Amino acid sequence: MKIKINKNFLNLEENYLFSDINKRVNAYKEKNPNADIIRLGIGDVTLPLPKIIVDAMKKASDEMLSKDTFRGYPPEYGYDFIKEAIKDYYNRNNVSLDIESIFVSDGAKSDLGNIVDILGNNDIYIPNPVYPVYLDSNLMSGRRIHFIEGNEANNFLPMPDGLNNKPKVIYLCSPNNPTGATYNFNELAKWLEYAYKTGSLIIYDAAYEAFIVDSSPRSIYQIPNAKYVAIEVSSLSKMAGFTGVRCGYTIIPLELKANDVSLNKLWKRRQATKFNGVSYPVQRAAEAALSIEGVKACKENLDKYKENARLLSDLFDRKHIWYSGGKNSPYIWLKCPNNMKSFEFFDYLLDKANIVGTPGVGFGKFGEGYFRLTSFNTKENTIKAVERLEKLL
Ligand code: PLP
Repeated sequence: MKIKINKNFLNLEENYLFSDINKRVNAYKEKNPNADIIRLGIGDVTLPLPKIIVDAMKKASDEMLSKDTFRGYPPEYGYDFIKEAIKDYYNRNNVSLDIESIFVSDGAKSDLGNIVDILGNNDIYIPNPVYPVYLDSNLMSGRRIHFIEGNEANNFLPMPDGLNNKPKVIYLCSPNNPTGATYNFNELAKWLEYAYKTGSLIIYDAAYEAFIVDSSPRSIYQIPNAKYVAIEVSSLSKMAGFTGVRCGYTIIPLELKANDVSLNKLWKRRQATKFNGVSYPVQRAAEAALSIEGVKACKENLDKYKENARLLSDLFDRKHIWYSGGKNSPYIWLKCPNNMKSFEFFDYLLDKANIVGTPGVGFGKFGEGYFRLTSFNTKENTIKAVERLEKLL
């Protein structure tokens, strides 16, 4: 063929992280077929959906059986009932949202990947280490990328100090994947102040907000005036176990304008052109998850993950090993002992304790020397892993 391709795709680095991990684990299993391997690298939820959610999905599916209640194409931005449910969910956290600012989608990944469509050729500032979608979607669009370094000195919560005063697009993820680090009110207020001062946009990923147990903001809109500078992307994946069901949402406030152009209007146009909405049963399931009863049921699952996170954090406290996360997050991000590199520690843990985690360097170069463990395995396996680590470290 002689057609031209999007050459920006050639600038993407191959992501070998998970295939590399699998290769190493499979090779180990071949040599040690009886090894009882515990996976603490799982990034997906493992507990089944609460009944209230499945019941809502079933009821909505039944409605599709009858001529009177059958539904065809959903509205591109979400049915009013789900937007109302999201608005109520935010209200309970003292955030008041305009219904028009809410866009329902099939998940945060799509929205984070697609948001580049409505933005021009800006300088992009991305924390490192972080969820890789921000980087890759901007590389695909040929943007200029700058990393904001997370390290032990800033507790993996980089701040704007030292950044220039030019307008830019800044991604923030709090609680962060992979570090579990969570910005407090003052830190987010500083980021917002910087965004006002420089005419910048913040894209705030709140996918893990439901894990927050301390007073850290669960939405950037808990900070006054954030609606003038921030988009918030969130998801039911971790909050309600929707990784397989698929539902998320993005808030683009009506107040948000770039050179007098409403970003909300642009996103409306973008979604109406390229997206045909989320299926009706899924939206009903999401509505149930966001209700007061639904949140209570989801919290029971989250509490189980949090208990696993606590077991792991307590171990690293006892061992005086530096870590972040574990409290407001399903992730524990630890410094590899004895200055081991991420993959060195991976092999060491696999060999000596039959435990699989995720090398921190897979989330960016500033993750080298660190390691991510997750709380998504069973309590039984987490306890077993803690016992092994207690002996090994
Ligand atoms: N944002 C972060 C920080 C994540 O870690 C993930 C998934 O792991 C997502 C977004 C994607 O969420 P969703 O399942 O809604 O696409």
